[in-house]
Amino acid sequence: MHYFKYKGKTLFCENISVAKLMDKYGTPLFIYSQKTILDHFNKLKKAFSSIDALICYSVKVNSNICILNLLTKKGSGLDIVSGGELFLAKQVGCPGKKIVYASVGKTDKEIKDAINYEILMFNVESIPELKRMNRIARQLKKKPKVALRFNPNVDAKTHKYITTGKKENKFGMDEETVKKLILNNQDYSYLDIVGLHMHIGSQITQSSPYINAIKNAARLINFLKKQGIALKYLNIGGGLGIIYDKEKPQTAKAFAKKVLPLLKKLKLKIILEPGRFIVGNAGILASKVTYVKETRTKKFIIVDAAMNDLLRPSLYGAYHNIMPVVKSANNKQKSIKKADVVGPICESGDFLGKDRLINVEESEGIAVFAAGAYAFSMSSNYNSRPRAAEVLVRGSRDYLIRKRETYKDLINKEIIV
Ligand code: PLP
Repeated sequence: MHYFKYKGKTLFCENISVAKLMDKYGTPLFIYSQKTILDHFNKLKKAFSSIDALICYSVKVNSNICILNLLTKKGSGLDIVSGGELFLAKQVGCPGKKIVYASVGKTDKEIKDAINYEILMFNVESIPELKRMNRIARQLKKKPKVALRFNPNVDAKTHKYITTGKKENKFGMDEETVKKLILNNQDYSYLDIVGLHMHIGSQITQSSPYINAIKNAARLINFLKKQGIALKYLNIGGGLGIIYDKEKPQTAKAFAKKVLPLLKKLKLKIILEPGRFIVGNAGILASKVTYVKETRTKKFIIVDAAMNDLLRPSLYGAYHNIMPVVKSANNKQKSIKKADVVGPICESGDFLGKDRLINVEESEGIAVFAAGAYAFSMSSNYNSRPRAAEVLVRGSRDYLIRKRETYKDLINKEIIV
């Protein structure tokens, strides 16, 4: 569900024509629909309203501070993975008590800053990290809350690059290690180990991987209870999938219906860390056709957006629907030739879509759908391309929420010696 719809032949974001925004702000351009973002957040919140649950939006997915501000003002917490993301959380006034912090490589400074901001909890991924955190907490004379990231060894049935809960992945600790750490916690007297954290992967469209992971966590939680240790929190991570192509992801309501019976039995405070589910379909990448090139064997639609703007197709072969911003009269013709939609970057891996039936001419616009998640936040300056601008649409109004970078920005930090 999203608010990018055609009115006649013209694509609109809420009440504003995408073509108009392209004229006003230039291309490539990320366009986000506020209504879509809030709709997804509210659906998830409502689906879990019968239990004590905190939603912590995953900052890495789209870290524009306007979006972080929007969500935190609606009561969302934040899931962070770096000192930079802690900085962003502070910028939008997210209270420490609504911040959870994962990452396999937290540095001393990052740990110290997060302890001082009194975040809700760290999601600790290894024994060396636990030792280091205990040492820093002792120095600071504080006792931060910690959840151990449990790797439940389940198959999330998603792309292997975004699977994170199998034993061969670098994330979390296995059941035996978690048990031992919690039962023999005397070496960690400056840490308050209050819960378990899991995050089994991303773009998960079925409920069964979550059910398996929660069952594994429940076994561990109940074992500890029998040993006299009552945990207070279970963080079930993010990972809910969205529609890019023909996926049939679970709705927030359907997901909650499946997992709530298991979660209710545990009587713990539940944390969720959704990212893609909230912002994925709430954004498009608008781009202009620079050339249409036909070789003897292939047709290429060369656009002004590229892999530096949207890396997902190049990185994981991800599919994004690509449509004309204004549908032309002959778009339905059977004679349309399949084309690769590519950027100008000097890599054969620079494509946004392959073998697409799309009929656009030079200087016309295309919209790459579902570009709200892992899109701008993964963008780069590769090929010395200034990063795109970002615009938020709120009903009939549009707001520039990130200026387009300039050539000067490319060298701002560089020094000739
Ligand atoms: N939580 C953690 C620890 C993550 O690593 C991620 C994504 O990598 C997320 C939450 C958000 O995942 P998604 O966007 O699939 O909801």
